[in-house]
Amino acid sequence: MKKTQKEEMKKITIAIDGFSSSGKSTMAKDLAQEIGYIYIDSGAMYRAVTLYAMEHGLFNGDEIAVEALKDRMRDIRISFRLDRDAQRPDTYLNGVNVEDKIRSMDVSAKVSRISTLGFVREAMVGRQQEMGKAKGIVMDGRDIGTTVFPDAELKIFVTASPETRAKRRYEELKAKGRKAAYDDILKNVIERDHIDQSREISPLRKADDAILLDNSVMSIPQQKEWLMKQYLQAIQ
Ligand code: C5P
Repeated sequence: MKKTQKEEMKKITIAIDGFSSSGKSTMAKDLAQEIGYIYIDSGAMYRAVTLYAMEHGLFNGDEIAVEALKDRMRDIRISFRLDRDAQRPDTYLNGVNVEDKIRSMDVSAKVSRISTLGFVREAMVGRQQEMGKAKGIVMDGRDIGTTVFPDAELKIFVTASPETRAKRRYEELKAKGRKAAYDDILKNVIERDHIDQSREISPLRKADDAILLDNSVMSIPQQKEWLMKQYLQAIQ
């Protein structure tokens, strides 16, 4: 797509929600790059808060020092900067690149608990809405179409079987040279689905006006093509 063409088109907000490791980040990132939009991984923000809590001794096993974390929320600065080589945005926590750390199994095992906390969600949603003010944004997460951008012009809800998703996560970690047992990953995926769907505030659910995509048997290029079609329809 030529730059002038991109600039002429009206900018919209695109919300991509769905289950853990459903491939929504890959889809969202690719689309944003293709159409010249900003891409924001909202899950990375909850992961960064989790890492902060872990690094500051605010976890005792699975227990969170809730009041201490509440006091420290204003000290948690999260930003994204483009990694020019990898062509993807890296997550920074208080100025430090934490992209690899926030993807660890330790963080994955704790993040859903942090994201049930109302004051954490309030802070993150506020920051996300700020980032999307000018439109021209693709944001992925769990509550983007329902809570963060309920007026988004295009909403997608992505799902795939837990086994498919665990396999994808396993391959992803393996490719990065990380060790993780498939069974542990599957357990983590199922547990996070459960916590994300049953939490009180902004649980994971499909917005009524979101388009459902089950990508269990779709390749990445097929998903890309499907999403581009939805985008072109939405801007008409
Ligand atoms: O997308 P990702 O799997 O990296 O998200 C990590 C966790 O962050 C999710 O399991 C969920 O608990 C939380 N999350 C959320 N709301 C979002 C995005 C992520 O609660 N919008």
